[in-house]
Amino acid sequence: MDAKELHYKYLRYVIKKKLNGKSFKEPKPHASVKVVQFVCGINSQVKRFLNVEENLKKVLIGTPEALDSIKDKFKTKKEIASIKKLFDYDMFCDFNKKSTYFFYNAYNLSANLDIPTCPYCNRMCTKTVTQPTKITRPTFDHWFPKSKFPLLSLSFYNLVPSCNVCNGGKSSTPFELNTHFHPYHKSNKRDETLLYKFSYDNSDYSSFNFKLITENNFSDVSTKAFKLEDIYKMHEDEIIELRRIRDVYSADYLEMLRNKILLVNISDEEIYRLAFGTYSREDKFDRRPLSKMKRDILEELGMIL
Ligand SMILES: [Zn+2]
Repeated sequence: MDAKELHYKYLRYVIKKKLNGKSFKEPKPHASVKVVQFVCGINSQVKRFLNVEENLKKVLIGTPEALDSIKDKFKTKKEIASIKKLFDYDMFCDFNKKSTYFFYNAYNLSANLDIPTCPYCNRMCTKTVTQPTKITRPTFDHWFPKSKFPLLSLSFYNLVPSCNVCNGGKSSTPFELNTHFHPYHKSNKRDETLLYKFSYDNSDYSSFNFKLITENNFSDVSTKAFKLEDIYKMHEDEIIELRRIRDVYSADYLEMLRNKILLVNISDEEIYRLAFGTYSREDKFDRRPLSKMKRDILEELGMIL
């Protein structure tokens, strides 16, 4: 079962138990599930809505567009209070043995997702380590803020595993799907697609400044929301090294490695990874930090085609 299906299976059980108590009779979905306490006083509109299977499924694993369509569903104080009791993110992050979510919590979700770098910056490692004890995991950015849309506090596509810097430093302007990048949402419109390249200016050989070249307003707004151009300044020494490789070894560095140095036959992708420590294919950028930046700069330097 994949991360999304597990998320649905486990959270559905907890929410249904909280809503209906003993009258929800399905067997526990996991051996370690504790007794989930029935929550008294849930608003009747909220209860009716969530007891419709299709609605609960939409809240828990609906696509970003589906979440967008229901984010404002409940607005009164009583409704909001009920929603907060049912979809409690702090409880989901609590993994002690007595917690409701001991059997499945934020650590399990991030481990199941297996997204090793932050999808917003591709700069920080977001791997999850749970052995021998729960040591580290990425933070979860609520793409639709949970303070504004508590119904989406535990929604799979609203929990974006991300680094502290991006999660904490994200601009406070509300994000919209047609103006801001969402890592789980792919638009088929080019002007609503994240398209940017790392480039640089330099006044002399030891002083390089990153610049981001964005192809559309969507990318400009999205990269500015996470201050990517400014934050990448701390990696400007990487450009010096890549420039050095080009100048010392020439643009044929990769060819040279393949033909003269390596004793075994390996793929172009592997040669690239050994040479630069990152991935060259866009679909693998998320496997190692700084993959996109290095690929863009190496292209600009003429080191790769
Ligand atoms: Zn980040």
